[in-house]
Amino acid sequence: SSNTPPRTAGAALAGLGVPTNGTPAPSYTSSPDTRNGAAVPGTENTDEMSKEEKVLKSLVGVDENIAKTIMNEIVVKGDPVQWEDIAGLEAAKRALKETVIYPFLRPDLFSGLREPARGMLLFGPPGTGKTMLARAVATQAKSTFFSISASSLTSKYLGESEKLVRALFTVAKAMSPSIIFVDEIDSLMSARKGEGEHESSRRLKTEFLIQWSSLASAAAGNENDEEQPRVLVLAATNLPWDIDEAARRRFVRRQYIPLPEPETRMEQLNHLLRRQKHGLTPEQIAELVELTDGYSGSDITALAKDAAMGPLRSLGEDLLITPRDQIRPMSFDDFKMSLSTVRPSVSKEGLKEFEKWDKEFGSR
Ligand code: ADP
Repeated sequence: SSNTPPRTAGAALAGLGVPTNGTPAPSYTSSPDTRNGAAVPGTENTDEMSKEEKVLKSLVGVDENIAKTIMNEIVVKGDPVQWEDIAGLEAAKRALKETVIYPFLRPDLFSGLREPARGMLLFGPPGTGKTMLARAVATQAKSTFFSISASSLTSKYLGESEKLVRALFTVAKAMSPSIIFVDEIDSLMSARKGEGEHESSRRLKTEFLIQWSSLASAAAGNENDEEQPRVLVLAATNLPWDIDEAARRRFVRRQYIPLPEPETRMEQLNHLLRRQKHGLTPEQIAELVELTDGYSGSDITALAKDAAMGPLRSLGEDLLITPRDQIRPMSFDDFKMSLSTVRPSVSKEGLKEFEKWDKEFGSR
């Protein structure tokens, strides 16, 4: 069903006795069985068992602490995101289905000429839903979802980062089907800055590209496509022009995630207001749609949150004694007030840059 959460590597590895730092697994895998080294639920049949054996085998050589880091910090836990949670972006949803989800769910149909892409890039202004899309894909593709921000690779894990990247791909292959989501990919794949480029970040980038290539060559060397580990690198960036050419070419699909169209803003506003007491008429909502031209999805969320504070702000100190049912509904005026404080985070000129890059390099 579409509500099935992505499997997590944590569950399977816990089942293998790989230490997971005592951090509880996400709720849907937190059966006590999985942490006692017993079978993971749903893995009783032999097919699944051999997958676990594969995991165990390929983890030889992976540093225990690094495996722990991957399980605890990189495998995504938490609420699955559904398509319906994401307003608009129909073209992007369609592209993700075709490029990622169908190949993951029907590997038998996607071989030979239809061999699936190993890389897809989502680019566009910040706060437009790229991360949400990636999480929805993980939910729909019933895959293990690894998520890492490239800037944390270069800062937080510096020193360990090459090892981490190697281990990440190893675990992802073992836990196939897997999606490796890399946010802020620009900071990992930036065009070589010649002398100025740090040796360590150059090495990290090279390691990432080598690991990424190994996915494709593994596929080419095996007759039986269905046996192949299915691992896709899904990446997001607000700075697509910073990605160097070699890396750009590997993202076979480059999908523009634009600012929301009027219909999308309408959908999002209605979605945000659906469980809120409010007195906005359909005409006023339509006017809000006009007024939020240039706002990103996250700007609109911020706007609605700020406007929702309006009824409380107008109470002043009475807030502390007013019963809940006597709080006035949100009004159009609350939104108008908030529009002056919550401003769009992308400028018109900034937007032009994205459109230009999309024309030149985007997938259609
Ligand atoms: P990005 O990765 O593009 O920077 P996110 O996916 O992290 O943006 O979105 C940030 C927040 O903005 C989300 O948590 C959500 O509240 C809101 N948002 C952005 N785009 C949308 C959308 N299309 N539909 C619904 N909410 C959105």
